[in-house]
Amino acid sequence: MKAAVLCVGTELLFGQTVNTNATYISHQLQLLGFDVLYHYVVGDNPQRLERLLDVCFEDCDLIITTGGLGPTEDDLTKETIAKYFGDELVYDEESLSRLKKYFVDTNRKMTENNLKQALLPSKSIVFPNSYGTAPGFLLSKDEKYIISLPGPPKEMTKMFDKEVFPYLSKKQNGALFYKIIRTYGIGESALETALLPLIHGQTDPTIATYAKEGECSIRIASKRETLQESESAVDMMIGKVYEIIGDYIYSENDEEYAKVLVDKLISENLTLTSVESCTGGMFASTITDISGASNCFKRGYVTYSNESKIHDVGVDAKLIEKYTAVSEEVARDMAIKGLEKANADICVSVTGIAGPDSWENFSPGTIFVGVAFNPGKRTKDKDIIGGRLCFVQNLDTRRTDRNKNRKYAVLAMIDMVYKTIKIS
Ligand code: AMP
Ligand code: MG
Repeated sequence: MKAAVLCVGTELLFGQTVNTNATYISHQLQLLGFDVLYHYVVGDNPQRLERLLDVCFEDCDLIITTGGLGPTEDDLTKETIAKYFGDELVYDEESLSRLKKYFVDTNRKMTENNLKQALLPSKSIVFPNSYGTAPGFLLSKDEKYIISLPGPPKEMTKMFDKEVFPYLSKKQNGALFYKIIRTYGIGESALETALLPLIHGQTDPTIATYAKEGECSIRIASKRETLQESESAVDMMIGKVYEIIGDYIYSENDEEYAKVLVDKLISENLTLTSVESCTGGMFASTITDISGASNCFKRGYVTYSNESKIHDVGVDAKLIEKYTAVSEEVARDMAIKGLEKANADICVSVTGIAGPDSWENFSPGTIFVGVAFNPGKRTKDKDIIGGRLCFVQNLDTRRTDRNKNRKYAVLAMIDMVYKTIKIS
């Protein structure tokens, strides 16, 4: 089947919003075996939208739109599509009660224009929105399909995964199965080069790599006659991928690294603490974003100043004086002292220059991450300092972007803790 992606919203034309919806939908459609022929962006203008529906349907069987489903005056996608298909908007009872419940649950006042969001084409299949207020829908006529999704990426992607993907995979012949593998510590080009022998000449399963901030994913997809055949084709390919880059893989199920770490800590019955300088609590925040973190993360220290490092966790002032706060020695001491102070099994520390400016002789991206581990019963290692297993690493990102440096530091902290548990 041939498909087009049509994104509605004047803010996209103004360049205020990056069109991430089109990228996401195209990836998914490609995965489902659709040929995507067009991406269009149109402002909140019914005439031009209608014209593009004509253009797209000339070559395509399916159009997916995003945006313009909201409660405000300029949101006209539904009206335009209903009219185009000779349908009318009616109140969808289920959407109406979901909408009312949403406002009660979130303790917000519902205004008159919100009701508009429960108006849907009478002949449509409705897709509930579990993250917001605007439902999506599907309308078809004479083997032409249109799927209309809300604009906010979070709502759109959830709706796509939950409602649209299963619907469309039934439309296609064969059974699709895919897995997303997550890696850390290898860049996208190195990853692609390593996997080239597998990627080359492969039609099924397909392998695609994606770079995300500081990490890379690999999607392995197969579409065979039965689900069982697809699954075993994917599993076989995953085996080959492991042989080449297995050391970098931390998840086979598209999980966040923080989630993988929290699960690991809980399953090994280990407690974690953190002593953070340049990340200002971002590590603790990332870990506590994961549900269940309270079972392993007892406390975290934000020791932004030298005084706080010395006073709050007991870092040796002489080390700071001798080596400065941005040093391997201080990172190690932060980890060791944090471990003692929190009486935890593992402590991870970070101290560095987030940027964009340099500090003293250090350039931005000079970031030391330390891990101290109380091996307890499970010792089989050599890097032991005062009964503690200790590692320090300088990330040396060579970047000036403050936020990226902080995010990369958090990922490196997660990775170091994870690897420490794995090898001990
Ligand atoms: P709307 O459903 O048109 O009210 O869109 C709501 C919000 O979703 C907009 O203000 C944008 O921030 C976001 N949005 C809409 N379309 C896109 C898109 N194609 N890509 C990314 N974000 C979008
Ligand atoms: Mg809009």
